[in-house]
Order: sequence, then C-alpha cells, then structure tokens
Amino acid sequence: MTNKGMKTAFLYIDKAKHIGIENVVKPVCGAGDVLLRVNVCAICGTDGRIYQGTKDVTKGFLPQIKGYGEGRFIIGHEIVGIVEKIGSEVESPDYGIGDKVIVVTSVGCQKEECRPCREGNHNMCKNNHPIGYYYPGGFAEYILVQDAAVKQGAIIRIPGDSTVSDEHLAMVEPLSCVINGQDYLDISKGEYVTIVGAGPIGLMHGLLAKSKGAKVILAEYSPVRLSKSKEFGFDYYIASKDTDLVKAVLELTDGEGTDVGIVACSVNKVAQELLRAMAMKGRLSFFAGFPKENSILKLDGNIIHYKEVSIYGAFASNRPQFKEALRLIVSGKVSMDRIVTDVFPLERITEAMEKMLDKEGDALKVVIKP
Ligand SMILES: [Zn+2]
Ligand SMILES: [Zn+2]
Repeated sequence: MTNKGMKTAFLYIDKAKHIGIENVVKPVCGAGDVLLRVNVCAICGTDGRIYQGTKDVTKGFLPQIKGYGEGRFIIGHEIVGIVEKIGSEVESPDYGIGDKVIVVTSVGCQKEECRPCREGNHNMCKNNHPIGYYYPGGFAEYILVQDAAVKQGAIIRIPGDSTVSDEHLAMVEPLSCVINGQDYLDISKGEYVTIVGAGPIGLMHGLLAKSKGAKVILAEYSPVRLSKSKEFGFDYYIASKDTDLVKAVLELTDGEGTDVGIVACSVNKVAQELLRAMAMKGRLSFFAGFPKENSILKLDGNIIHYKEVSIYGAFASNRPQFKEALRLIVSGKVSMDRIVTDVFPLERITEAMEKMLDKEGDALKVVIKP
C-alpha cells in the first residue's frame, strides 16, 4: 500500500499566529504505537494561547517526537478518532481496528520511582509529556499515539452504543479537567456554587455542579459572554463589570456566603474577592492559572482561619477523570449541546482560532474536523 500522506495544520514558531496546511507523509505506526484517523479535534484555550504566541510551550518540545522536524508543530489534544492501525507489540488492547476512541492528554514518565505516575496521576508527573505539545497532536488527518502513551493506557474506547456526536465527545478532555477541579470540592445538593468566568470551562463547571443539585451563581465580566451564558439557565447571574462581586454573592446567599467558589478566569482580583464571599467551611478552587509574571495573591488569612475555608488547585486530569467525563457525556447527564458552538474544516483553522479567541463573539467551543 502506498502512503498517500495526510493533511496537517502546522503551527510555525517563526512568528505569532502562523498556521499553515501542508501535506506530509502519514506517520508510520511502530510496533508499540497506535495510529488513529482523526474525526474531530477541539480547540483548547491553551491552543489559542500557543497560537497567539502568549504561551510558549514549544521550547522544551523541539522537535516533536516522531514529528516533522524543527520549527513546526502539530498541536491539538481534544481528540476523537478511529483506530486505523495497532502496532504488533501493543499488549491486549481493549479497543480494535475501527473502534472510536478518545485520548488522555498527559503522558507521564511511568518510572517506578515517580510517585505521581505510580498513583496514576500522570498529569502531575514532573516529566509529563502531553500529546499535542511534546507529541504531535490532533490538528491533522491522522495522529500517531506513540508507545509511551499507549503503554500508559491513554487510549479509551467509546462505548459502541453511544449516540453522542464526535463534536460532543471531544468535550471529554475539558470536562475531565473540570471534574478534576470539582473532585476536591465535595459539592452536595442545595449548596451554593459560585463560578467566576463564563467561558467554556466556567460553563462546564456550572453544568457539572447543576448535575449534583447545586444552586449555581455565575459571574462574568463581559456583557456579551454573560448574556450568552443565560441560555444555560443557571440559578443566578452576576454582571461583575458593574456589580460588587462580594456584595452580590452575600446578597444572593442571605449573607451566608457561597459554599463553593470556583475561579475560572486568570484574574488575581477575582480570587482575592471570592475568598471574601465564602461561607463557613467553604471550598474555593483556583481552577485557572494566574498570570506567570503576576501570580502572587493577597489573601486574608483570617478568613481562611476563622471560617475554616479550604483552597484547592487543579491542573489537567487523569485517566479515571477522562472515563468519568465520558460517562457523563454519553449518558446525557451533562449535555454539551450549548457548549459546542462552531465546527470548522482543517483548512480554516486560522479562522477557527480567531473565532475562538474573539471574546466579544458568540463562540464557546470550536471544533476542527480534519
Ligand atoms: Zn484542553
Ligand atoms: Zn512520572
């Protein structure tokens, strides 16, 4: 059989916002690898920052392993694909040729002496080599899931009776990160959950909290995003552009404060304020990262002390959280209907990136269909 090649969107590192479509040879499936045909790959906020040049993750990853040389990258990690080839030495895979699968992003070192890897938290491994950064990603017609990822169990089969669209299945990765964040927060029925930031991640936090029976308060600065988020029918909304966040939360909660707070935007002030709006024994998640050059926060330690407030972090997700996200999406418990707003062919990836990055536009999650 001849290698017909594949269409790929390369991100070139010479300047910001430089993406081009090229035809390259299809990756060769080694003995330990699995080759997937990509059905869809959604654009993550991180992809957007790499594209804009505000987040340089390419430095340590030069060149991508079994990639296409220096200076150009294939990014994209929210992948849904069909198994095309399984390497001869892949041990008892629980998926077969033709199966639809998703792929766990983080690939750990898998060394016995590495505690995160031993405990299955490959996202916490110091030598985490994520797919779509270190390894070539999903903005291409094919992706080679390489031996280290295969061995770790990165490939997860979609149940055969699933009727969920590929676009929605691509939301498993971001939802798995949201699950990771909420795993610490112990949200129970009837509790107030205040989320600041109505981007796709904040909205997914709202949907997940609603599925647990919480009362969701969503705060958002941008009027466009706020009005878009009203379609989701959460319990309360706060226009933080012209409202005092702390006061508004206290008013909505009869002065008690919110049981759970989730900072789903990279704004220091929001984290500082949300702490002041916490209820007794409240749980606060710093879900989003803070600006690298400005990550020091000013927090009132006595609120944490006297109110017994706990603060948690979250970064990426592990395999069990992927499986849980898949279960929630396939069962319809958490619907992605309103989250996925746009689908673009690979050739129009630049347009898709711009659409995703336009904070005044109406796009939430944008999906690429190679
Ligand atoms: Zn992502
Ligand atoms: Zn490790």
